[in-house]
Amino acid sequence: MASITAFRVGHCTHPSCMVLKGSGLASRCFPSRAYLIETRAGLYLWDTGYAEHFRTATSRGVYRMYAWVTPISFDAHESLQGQLRAHGVAPGDIYTLLLSHFHADHIAGMRDFPGARLMCSKPGWDAVRGLSGVAAVRQAFVPELLPPDIAARLSFVESVPETALPTALQPFTMGRDVSGTGEIYIVDLPGHAVGHIGAFVLQDGGWTLLASDAAWVPESFQQLRGPSELSFLIQHRRAPYYATLNRLHQLHRSGNAQIRITHEDTLGYIPASITVAGRP
Ligand SMILES: [Zn+2]
Repeated sequence: MASITAFRVGHCTHPSCMVLKGSGLASRCFPSRAYLIETRAGLYLWDTGYAEHFRTATSRGVYRMYAWVTPISFDAHESLQGQLRAHGVAPGDIYTLLLSHFHADHIAGMRDFPGARLMCSKPGWDAVRGLSGVAAVRQAFVPELLPPDIAARLSFVESVPETALPTALQPFTMGRDVSGTGEIYIVDLPGHAVGHIGAFVLQDGGWTLLASDAAWVPESFQQLRGPSELSFLIQHRRAPYYATLNRLHQLHRSGNAQIRITHEDTLGYIPASITVAGRP
C-alpha cells in the first residue's frame, strides 16, 4: 500500500469570496502543497508547489503581471527539494513527477527534479505548449518554469488504459493505474483547467483522492458551494467545474475516501492517514 506525505511549499493570499461564494472580503491564506507518494513501484510526486524559479520567472516582462495579481510568499526553507532532503529523499530518488495541470503554482519546482519522468494529461499539455506572453499569463502559465528537455521526458496518462475503480469510489467509476501496482489511479477532474486530473491513492487506511484545484477550499465540496462567478474568468469552464464539484460532494458524503485539495489551509483538516512534513 502507498503512503502519502504532504509538503507545504509557499502560499498566496486572496479575498475569501473569490474562492467561496458569499464568504466575505477577508484575506485568506492559500498554501500550495506537493505530495510525496511512496509506492511499491517507486516514489511519485504530485505537483511541486512554488519554488524560487517562480520569483525569477515572474520578475520580467509580462510575467510580472502574474506576480502582481497573485502576490506570493515563499521562503528558502519552504523549498520542496530541501524539505524532501530533510525527509531523506534526494531529487534523484523521485521516479515520476505527476502534474495535475500547468498552473504555475503547481509546476514551479519542475526544474529541481531533472532526473524524474514527467506525466500529465495530453489535453493539459496541448493547451499550454507553445504559449508565451499574455496568452500564457491568461492561462496562469509561465513557460520558463518548464525544463528545457520536457518533450523528451514527458509521457501522458492517456497511454495507460482506463480500468474499473472499486464500486466504493462511485460516482467515480474508471481510472488509470499509472503505478501499475493498483496504488495510484488517475481520474479526470475537468472544469478548473484544460486536462485537470486527480489521483486516487490506496493506503493501508483506505482511499485518498488528491483532487488538486477541483475545489479551492474544503467547504466547497463539503457544502457544494462554488467560488465567485468572477473566478470563471480564469478557470476553464463552469459547467464541467460544477459537475466535478458535485462528484466530489457525493464522494465526500459516501465517506469512502478522503479528499485532499492543494490549497487547503488548516492543518487540523488533514487526517492522520497523511503524514504532514514538519508535524510531529
Ligand atoms: Zn490551478
